[in-house]
Amino acid sequence: MLKILDAVFVTTATRPDQYPREPVPEVAFVGRSNVGKSSMINTLVNRNKLVRVSHTPGRTRTLNFFDATFESQARRRVVRLCDLPGYGFAKVSKTERVQWQAMIAGYLEERQTLKVVVSIIDAEVGPTPDDLNMLDFLQSTPPKILVVATKLDRLSKAHRKPRVIELAKRLEVPLEAVVGFSSVERIGVQDVWSRVMATVDAR
Ligand code: GDP
Repeated sequence: MLKILDAVFVTTATRPDQYPREPVPEVAFVGRSNVGKSSMINTLVNRNKLVRVSHTPGRTRTLNFFDATFESQARRRVVRLCDLPGYGFAKVSKTERVQWQAMIAGYLEERQTLKVVVSIIDAEVGPTPDDLNMLDFLQSTPPKILVVATKLDRLSKAHRKPRVIELAKRLEVPLEAVVGFSSVERIGVQDVWSRVMATVDAR
């Protein structure tokens, strides 16, 4: 059982020279805007408003870094979370979109301390073409991928597990690489953390 002790905002960045420098293992969160990414991060760190839950999709245009301190097996440890801008938001100019893509790709390809990328998919909607593009891109980068299917509460209990299995098949990833999640019902919190920590601890 992993227990979150503290979570703090570290910094905002748009360029590599602004990324935090200390070598802390990092987990990045990607997903289309409005998928529930901010809510997921807040739920994972047990804080209501660490990350602002937006009512206007597509507003986060920077990389936002947070440090989560937790206790696991009587050890106190820190993991850094990086919240990436949501993709797939239509109302942005092409220039802006190209800039974001370069920023996101640069980070995902080059960040040495990045151990795992959490790719967030809407469990009810399923993977969109943008999600599939992002997953394709992630396959070409060094960090491991964990797929988290959120808003699972929107499905009836009987449909939840089958949907997670279906998603793993559809994405052609092992079932262990997909976790069902809900910020509303707090489903999957320990599962996400234990899989994230397994990749952080893997050599
Ligand atoms: P982001 O744009 O990806 O950061 O998404 P937000 O966290 O801001 O959430 C977008 C919308 O989805 C908000 O209206 C949230 O209340 C809602 N939402 C987020 N997570 C869940 C969830 O697990 N279940 C349900 N039913 N709604 C959620």
